[in-house]
Amino acid sequence: MNKGSAQMTAHGILKEYFGYDSFREGQEELIQDILSGRDVLGIMPTGAGKSLCFQVPAMIFDGVTLVISPLISLMKDQIHALTQSGVPAAFINSSLTDRQISKALNNARNGAYKLIYIAPERLLSGEFLSFAQAANISMLAVDEAHCISQWGQDFRPSYTQIPEFVAKLQIRPVVSAFTATATPRVKEDIAAKLEQKNPTVLVSGFDRPNLFFDIKHPHDKFSALAEFLSDKRDRSGIVYCATRATVESVCEKLNQAKHNASRYHAGLADSERRENQDDFLHDRVQIMVATNAFGMGIDKSNVSFVVHYNMPKDLEGYYQEAGRAGRDGEPANCLLLYSKGDVSTNLFLISDEQQNLNRLQEMERFCTTSDCLRQFILNYFGESAKTENCGNCTNCTNCETAFEIADITIDTQQIISCVIRMKERFGTRILVDVLRGKRNAKVLNFGLDKLSTFGINNKSAAHLGEIINHLINENYLVKTAEKFPIIKRGTRAKEALSPDAQIFMKAKPQAMRLQSDKKYAARQSTLRPVNTALFAALKALRLEIANEQGLPAFVIFHDSTLTDMCLKLPSTPEEFLNVSGVGGVKAEKYGAKFLKKIGEFIADALEANISPTPPPDFDSSKIETLAENITVSILADKINCHLIECGYDKITGRRINDWLVSKGHMAIISKGTKTAKTPTEEGAILGITTETREIRGESTQINLFNENAQKYVVTNVQEIVNFSP
Ligand code: ADP
Ligand code: MG
Repeated sequence: MNKGSAQMTAHGILKEYFGYDSFREGQEELIQDILSGRDVLGIMPTGAGKSLCFQVPAMIFDGVTLVISPLISLMKDQIHALTQSGVPAAFINSSLTDRQISKALNNARNGAYKLIYIAPERLLSGEFLSFAQAANISMLAVDEAHCISQWGQDFRPSYTQIPEFVAKLQIRPVVSAFTATATPRVKEDIAAKLEQKNPTVLVSGFDRPNLFFDIKHPHDKFSALAEFLSDKRDRSGIVYCATRATVESVCEKLNQAKHNASRYHAGLADSERRENQDDFLHDRVQIMVATNAFGMGIDKSNVSFVVHYNMPKDLEGYYQEAGRAGRDGEPANCLLLYSKGDVSTNLFLISDEQQNLNRLQEMERFCTTSDCLRQFILNYFGESAKTENCGNCTNCTNCETAFEIADITIDTQQIISCVIRMKERFGTRILVDVLRGKRNAKVLNFGLDKLSTFGINNKSAAHLGEIINHLINENYLVKTAEKFPIIKRGTRAKEALSPDAQIFMKAKPQAMRLQSDKKYAARQSTLRPVNTALFAALKALRLEIANEQGLPAFVIFHDSTLTDMCLKLPSTPEEFLNVSGVGGVKAEKYGAKFLKKIGEFIADALEANISPTPPPDFDSSKIETLAENITVSILADKINCHLIECGYDKITGRRINDWLVSKGHMAIISKGTKTAKTPTEEGAILGITTETREIRGESTQINLFNENAQKYVVTNVQEIVNFSP
């Protein structure tokens, strides 16, 4: 261990080894408490950065930190990542031979490591215990600490041996514990079972601001998936399906559609599962199609989307799976493809316990609500959302444009009357059939075609279903939580039937209901706009380096780090160190290679006369260019639409012209007392032409931009914005 680090501050370590400028929410508090010798329990969502909370103090403590981790794959990834960053660390688990273990422990005795990751089963083994009793252990960090609780989902009996191990040490180390999933009961259980002493308990918010939540109700799920994937060719993601059979068919269809997909479910041989998982981790396949068996222990940071092809059985599972997207803090997409059939599948899969049925019902409510999805999730987990409109879920981004407020008073009254006449004995489907006047066997058998409400409403079944869901959410109706739920009157039913009742619903307009998903796609959160060619080049370089060392690419640099390189375009080693995620060791190892690539790119770009840096949040590819010839003011309008969206001031046509003059594409000529700008020879080559038109009785010369000329202006918008004439 280099001697300097004992004097380094937590911030210094963060920057020097991990390459980050600031701590995230909760990290610094936990680290300071640990350093002051206090036990801590950190409950933070997936991707929040729990590892740094024990890795940073481990670097500052004199002794060694033992990290208890439940999974070999997790340990491996973390050790690779740490050693890449220059942190001396090792793991001890069953993937090593006895000889390798003895060797590692020998190194440890000589102070070779600051962190040792170990499986809980091994703590009390003779060899390890005698090492530990003689060693200077500063901290015991328990990762995935919920494994110690029987109330949690992944109880691991070996975790309960931890206190016994601690008791056998000469000096009690700081005991820190971390988990993403803890209900209040599990939280207390962790601290008690670990015998933590007066721990600081820090629960950081469950919100994951970088995730965009989207729910669609498509007629054809596969087409919806294909459409979603169409602009994500170079991004990694997971597609979760409810059953093995669905995994098989979706994976096959994706591969037929020339996607690079693999599969994972419990029906495959261990070896194939391992291989497929490895392919995904190492970016050899882009999409993993899997059941919920896939994911525990996947620390892959650059998963940029998670699609649920089927509705999961509860929000706990949904949020945990969706949360695997965007661990690197980059904007990521979570799309859920909902269909009625998913509810039946789940009813078949879950046991009849009331608790499960309630959870399923909440899940269904989530899929059908038109309120903020983020707020819904946070409320479900007992947290209040900061705002009513998060601006980063499909319901919030669409609420102004894609929703209309519909008056559903009459529909409501018809539905409630019908429920009453049906004696509150039937479910949604048959209620809808009666309302719509369907003479099917069930309706006829029960004589429901004789009711006065039979055939009273001619809206589509889907539309009526949406209204009924809304009425359930608003307590006008109740849906019983049973295997075959029944619709009854809710507490507000009476209110709805009063003559002056007025009931409204935020609804998708008719056209949208038919799932024209294109409009939605455009509004999804996008990644920070970077030059895609440069990003691809840096990614290729990263893969080359990773392959040379047999490591997953994200261990070399995260996607977010490559993105930051594209934005900062460093040209010196110092500037390279300013890139988020680049610490001293990685800068030394890889700086030269990446700087060379970036340098080459800038040179090419300059030669091609393309501006390499778009302003932040600005994506010139979003500006529409037209195949026809247009005037400079129309061109300015097109550009301004996007500038305003990104929070920039508008530019004028005149500014564009002045800039073109400065570039030599236009020239100022005087015509009597007036001056005008006309294209130079160069401008003409670019695609600017002049035309004489009659404007207000005067013949005026106007300049027209063909598509090529439009594109030239559009790619250089940043320069034009910053241009001073
Ligand atoms: P968790 O264990 O809480 O799920 P990790 O510890 O795996 O999360 O961290 C998730 C990602 O966040 C990692 O890629 C890590 O490098 C990154 N990260 C952690 N802390 C910071 C920070 N302060 N600044 C920037 N990135 C961070
Ligand atoms: Mg973790």
